[in-house]
Amino acid sequence: MCNDHPVQLPRRGLLAVSAASLVAGSLAAPALAQTAKPAPNAMTPDQALKRLMDGNARYVANAPDNKDFSAGRAARAQSQHPFAGLLSCADSRVAPELAFDQSPGELFVVRVAGNFVNTDGLASLEFGVKVLGMPLIMVLGHTNCGAIAATINVMKEKTQLPGHLPDLVKAIKPAIDLAEKANAANPLDEAIKQNVRYNVRRLLEAKPIIAEAAAAGKVKVVGGMYDLATGKVALI
Ligand SMILES: [Zn+2]
Repeated sequence: MCNDHPVQLPRRGLLAVSAASLVAGSLAAPALAQTAKPAPNAMTPDQALKRLMDGNARYVANAPDNKDFSAGRAARAQSQHPFAGLLSCADSRVAPELAFDQSPGELFVVRVAGNFVNTDGLASLEFGVKVLGMPLIMVLGHTNCGAIAATINVMKEKTQLPGHLPDLVKAIKPAIDLAEKANAANPLDEAIKQNVRYNVRRLLEAKPIIAEAAAAGKVKVVGGMYDLATGKVALI
């Protein structure tokens, strides 16, 4: 791990640690120095995407791999090697480890209603890329997203929402604006897709960590749409 680019995490981010300790490889980062074997997530972005989509196909077919959750527990206590980061919606109907038929430790999941990039979520994904070496990030929207639907309504009705809900509306608004311009037959579906595409772009432009890793071909950022009714994820 080079320390030319100290990792900056927000003060209340995922892990309140110094850049030095990240670089030193603590926090269950891959213990590369201790073994000659490649890390379990040492694969190309395309291999990671295939593994993710193959898992979704098993989920859709109701044919998940048999999993022995106890087997990897001791290893996971020492380190983690996720091969994909997921930026997905907090919606309780979307469960990434199930939807992609993956075991604990294989996905690095950031969830927020409306699956958009914010500072803490970005820092979490940066940690996954820079420290844990994951080669893939998927922004995962889903059909019938309540957060997006509510934002469309709030913008239309000019409703004042209580609490911190206006922050969600503000974060999702750019996608609604893009969807309006597209003038699609189904405004909600269009907004959900635009929101995924918009946040894929934001991640690809997120300097220095993810943008540089993407430019170097070390990480791929893709968008997906999860169909609540079938469980199928389509790349968008
Ligand atoms: Zn949602």
